[in-house]
Amino acid sequence: MRLILLGPPGAGKGTQAKKLMEAHAIQQLSTGDMLRAAVKAETPIGLKAKDIMVRGDLVPDDVVNQIVAERIGDPDCSNGFILDGFPRTVAQAEALEAILAEKQLELDAVIELQVDEEALASRVEKRRQESGDAVREDDTVEALRHRLKVYRDQTAPLIEHYRGTGKLRSVDGMQDIETVTANIAAILGEARPQLYATG
Ligand code: AMP
Repeated sequence: MRLILLGPPGAGKGTQAKKLMEAHAIQQLSTGDMLRAAVKAETPIGLKAKDIMVRGDLVPDDVVNQIVAERIGDPDCSNGFILDGFPRTVAQAEALEAILAEKQLELDAVIELQVDEEALASRVEKRRQESGDAVREDDTVEALRHRLKVYRDQTAPLIEHYRGTGKLRSVDGMQDIETVTANIAAILGEARPQLYATG
Protein backbone atom coordinates (compact mmCIF):
# COMPACT_ATOMS: atom_id res chain seq x y z
CA MET A 1 0.00 0.00 0.00
CA ARG A 2 1.45 3.34 -1.06
CA LEU A 3 -0.25 6.51 0.10
CA ILE A 4 0.18 10.25 0.27
CA LEU A 5 -1.34 12.23 3.12
CA LEU A 6 -2.02 15.78 2.02
CA GLY A 7 -3.13 18.69 4.18
CA PRO A 8 -1.93 21.86 5.86
CA PRO A 9 0.42 21.80 8.85
CA GLY A 10 -1.44 20.76 11.98
CA ALA A 11 -4.13 18.85 10.06
CA GLY A 12 -3.22 15.59 11.77
CA LYS A 13 -1.20 13.94 8.99
CA GLY A 14 1.41 12.61 11.42
CA THR A 15 -1.21 11.16 13.77
CA GLN A 16 -3.06 9.40 10.97
CA ALA A 17 0.17 8.24 9.35
CA LYS A 18 1.17 6.47 12.58
CA LYS A 19 -2.19 4.69 12.71
CA LEU A 20 -1.89 3.59 9.09
CA MET A 21 1.63 2.42 9.74
CA GLU A 22 0.45 0.12 12.53
CA ALA A 23 -2.65 -1.07 10.68
CA HIS A 24 -0.88 -1.99 7.46
CA ALA A 25 2.72 -2.65 8.50
CA ILE A 26 3.97 0.06 6.18
CA GLN A 27 6.47 2.85 6.81
CA GLN A 28 5.65 6.43 7.63
CA LEU A 29 7.95 8.62 5.57
CA SER A 30 7.85 12.11 7.03
CA THR A 31 10.22 14.48 5.28
CA GLY A 32 9.79 16.88 8.22
CA ASP A 33 11.00 14.18 10.67
CA MET A 34 13.89 13.25 8.36
CA LEU A 35 14.94 16.88 8.02
CA ARG A 36 14.69 17.47 11.78
CA ALA A 37 16.93 14.43 12.33
CA ALA A 38 19.41 15.87 9.80
CA VAL A 39 19.36 19.25 11.59
CA LYS A 40 19.99 17.54 14.93
CA ALA A 41 22.85 15.46 13.53
CA GLU A 42 24.25 18.59 11.84
CA THR A 43 24.65 16.81 8.51
CA PRO A 44 25.26 18.98 5.40
CA ILE A 45 21.55 18.72 4.54
CA GLY A 46 20.63 19.63 8.12
CA LEU A 47 22.88 22.69 8.10
CA LYS A 48 21.31 23.81 4.83
CA ALA A 49 17.74 23.19 6.04
CA LYS A 50 17.87 24.57 9.60
CA ASP A 51 17.12 28.28 9.06
CA ILE A 52 14.66 27.57 6.26
CA MET A 53 12.67 25.28 8.56
CA VAL A 54 12.64 27.73 11.47
CA ARG A 55 11.20 30.34 9.09
CA GLY A 56 8.57 27.87 7.94
CA ASP A 57 9.69 28.05 4.32
CA LEU A 58 10.22 25.04 2.08
CA VAL A 59 13.56 23.30 1.78
CA PRO A 60 14.65 23.15 -1.91
CA ASP A 61 12.89 20.49 -3.99
CA ASP A 62 16.11 18.70 -5.01
CA VAL A 63 17.06 18.16 -1.35
CA VAL A 64 13.78 16.51 -0.35
CA ASN A 65 13.41 14.65 -3.64
CA GLN A 66 16.74 12.99 -3.06
CA ILE A 67 15.93 12.06 0.54
CA VAL A 68 12.65 10.44 -0.54
CA ALA A 69 14.16 8.66 -3.55
CA GLU A 70 16.74 7.03 -1.30
CA ARG A 71 14.30 6.16 1.47
CA ILE A 72 11.66 4.58 -0.79
CA GLY A 73 14.24 2.08 -2.00
CA ASP A 74 15.02 0.82 1.52
CA PRO A 75 14.01 -2.79 2.26
CA ASP A 76 11.61 -1.75 5.06
CA CYS A 77 9.54 0.13 2.47
CA SER A 78 8.96 -2.91 0.28
CA ASN A 79 5.53 -3.48 1.83
CA GLY A 80 4.57 0.14 1.19
CA PHE A 81 4.70 3.59 2.74
CA ILE A 82 2.74 6.66 3.71
CA LEU A 83 4.25 9.91 2.55
CA ASP A 84 3.58 12.53 5.23
CA GLY A 85 4.60 16.05 4.24
CA PHE A 86 5.84 15.11 0.77
CA PRO A 87 5.22 16.13 -1.97
CA ARG A 88 4.71 19.80 -1.09
CA THR A 89 5.12 21.34 -4.56
CA VAL A 90 4.01 20.30 -8.02
CA ALA A 91 7.70 19.84 -8.92
CA GLN A 92 8.06 17.38 -6.01
CA ALA A 93 4.95 15.52 -7.18
CA GLU A 94 6.48 15.19 -10.64
CA ALA A 95 9.76 14.01 -9.15
CA LEU A 96 7.84 11.43 -7.11
CA GLU A 97 6.09 10.19 -10.24
CA ALA A 98 9.49 9.67 -11.88
CA ILE A 99 10.86 7.89 -8.79
CA LEU A 100 7.87 5.55 -8.63
CA ALA A 101 7.86 4.88 -12.38
CA GLU A 102 11.52 3.96 -12.24
CA LYS A 103 10.80 1.44 -9.49
CA GLN A 104 7.60 0.28 -11.24
CA LEU A 105 5.49 1.25 -8.25
CA GLU A 106 2.07 2.89 -8.15
CA LEU A 107 0.26 5.01 -5.61
CA ASP A 108 -2.95 3.55 -4.18
CA ALA A 109 -4.47 6.82 -3.01
CA VAL A 110 -3.84 10.45 -2.09
CA ILE A 111 -5.77 11.30 1.03
CA GLU A 112 -6.49 14.96 1.63
CA LEU A 113 -7.26 15.99 5.21
CA GLN A 114 -9.57 18.99 4.93
CA VAL A 115 -9.40 21.37 7.89
CA ASP A 116 -10.55 24.80 9.00
CA GLU A 117 -7.31 26.78 8.95
CA GLU A 118 -8.41 29.18 11.69
CA ALA A 119 -9.06 26.29 14.06
CA LEU A 120 -5.54 25.00 13.39
CA ALA A 121 -3.93 27.92 15.21
CA SER A 122 -5.71 26.99 18.45
CA ARG A 123 -4.79 23.32 17.92
CA VAL A 124 -1.13 24.28 17.64
CA GLU A 125 -1.35 26.49 20.71
CA LYS A 126 -2.86 23.58 22.66
CA ARG A 127 -0.19 21.16 21.44
CA ARG A 128 2.46 23.63 22.58
CA GLN A 129 0.98 23.95 26.04
CA GLU A 130 0.47 20.20 26.46
CA SER A 131 3.97 19.26 25.35
CA GLY A 132 5.73 21.68 27.74
CA ASP A 133 9.33 22.43 26.80
CA ALA A 134 9.77 19.83 24.09
CA VAL A 135 8.18 21.94 21.38
CA ARG A 136 9.26 22.34 17.82
CA GLU A 137 10.90 25.64 17.00
CA ASP A 138 8.44 26.17 14.15
CA ASP A 139 5.42 25.35 16.32
CA THR A 140 4.30 28.86 17.18
CA VAL A 141 1.14 30.56 16.00
CA GLU A 142 3.18 33.09 13.97
CA ALA A 143 5.23 30.37 12.28
CA LEU A 144 2.06 28.37 11.67
CA ARG A 145 0.45 31.32 9.90
CA HIS A 146 3.45 31.55 7.61
CA ARG A 147 3.46 27.79 7.03
CA LEU A 148 -0.25 27.96 6.17
CA LYS A 149 0.47 30.65 3.59
CA VAL A 150 3.26 28.54 2.12
CA TYR A 151 0.81 25.62 2.04
CA ARG A 152 -1.84 27.65 0.22
CA ASP A 153 0.63 29.06 -2.31
CA GLN A 154 2.81 26.04 -3.01
CA THR A 155 1.14 22.85 -1.78
CA ALA A 156 -2.62 23.36 -2.25
CA PRO A 157 -2.23 23.23 -6.08
CA LEU A 158 -1.42 19.53 -5.56
CA ILE A 159 -5.07 18.91 -4.73
CA GLU A 160 -6.07 19.67 -8.33
CA HIS A 161 -2.98 17.86 -9.59
CA TYR A 162 -4.04 14.65 -7.84
CA ARG A 163 -7.72 15.11 -8.63
CA GLY A 164 -6.61 14.87 -12.24
CA THR A 165 -5.03 11.48 -11.59
CA GLY A 166 -8.28 10.09 -10.13
CA LYS A 167 -6.47 9.12 -6.91
CA LEU A 168 -7.56 12.00 -4.68
CA ARG A 169 -9.86 11.20 -1.76
CA SER A 170 -10.90 13.86 0.76
CA VAL A 171 -11.67 13.41 4.44
CA ASP A 172 -13.02 15.94 6.95
CA GLY A 173 -9.98 16.33 9.21
CA MET A 174 -11.87 18.38 11.82
CA GLN A 175 -13.61 15.31 13.21
CA ASP A 176 -12.14 13.46 16.18
CA ILE A 177 -9.07 11.34 15.52
CA GLU A 178 -10.88 7.97 15.59
CA THR A 179 -13.55 9.15 13.14
CA VAL A 180 -10.91 10.43 10.72
CA THR A 181 -9.10 7.08 11.03
CA ALA A 182 -12.34 5.21 10.31
CA ASN A 183 -13.08 7.38 7.28
CA ILE A 184 -9.60 6.76 5.89
CA ALA A 185 -10.03 3.01 6.44
CA ALA A 186 -13.30 3.14 4.49
CA ILE A 187 -11.57 4.91 1.61
CA LEU A 188 -8.75 2.40 1.57
CA GLY A 189 -11.26 -0.42 1.65
CA GLU A 190 -12.59 0.92 -1.64
CA ALA A 191 -9.11 1.42 -3.09
CA ARG A 192 -7.81 -2.00 -1.99
CA PRO A 193 -10.81 -4.22 -1.07
CA GLN A 194 -8.60 -7.29 -0.54
CA LEU A 195 -7.06 -5.65 2.52
CA TYR A 196 -10.40 -5.49 4.26
CA ALA A 197 -12.01 -8.66 2.97
CA THR A 198 -13.43 -10.88 5.68
CA GLY A 199 -13.82 -14.61 5.41
P1 AMP B 1 6.54 19.12 8.70
O1 AMP B 1 7.02 18.37 9.88
O2 AMP B 1 6.05 18.24 7.60
O3 AMP B 1 5.56 20.19 9.04
O4 AMP B 1 7.82 19.87 8.09
C1 AMP B 1 8.56 20.80 8.84
C2 AMP B 1 9.39 21.69 7.90
O5 AMP B 1 10.31 20.87 7.17
C3 AMP B 1 8.59 22.43 6.85
O6 AMP B 1 8.04 23.65 7.34
C4 AMP B 1 9.66 22.66 5.80
O7 AMP B 1 10.55 23.70 6.17
C5 AMP B 1 10.43 21.35 5.85
N1 AMP B 1 9.86 20.33 4.93
C6 AMP B 1 9.28 19.16 5.28
N2 AMP B 1 8.88 18.47 4.20
C7 AMP B 1 9.22 19.25 3.13
C8 AMP B 1 9.05 19.10 1.73
N3 AMP B 1 8.44 18.03 1.20
N4 AMP B 1 9.52 20.10 0.94
C9 AMP B 1 10.15 21.17 1.44
N5 AMP B 1 10.32 21.39 2.76
C10 AMP B 1 9.86 20.43 3.60
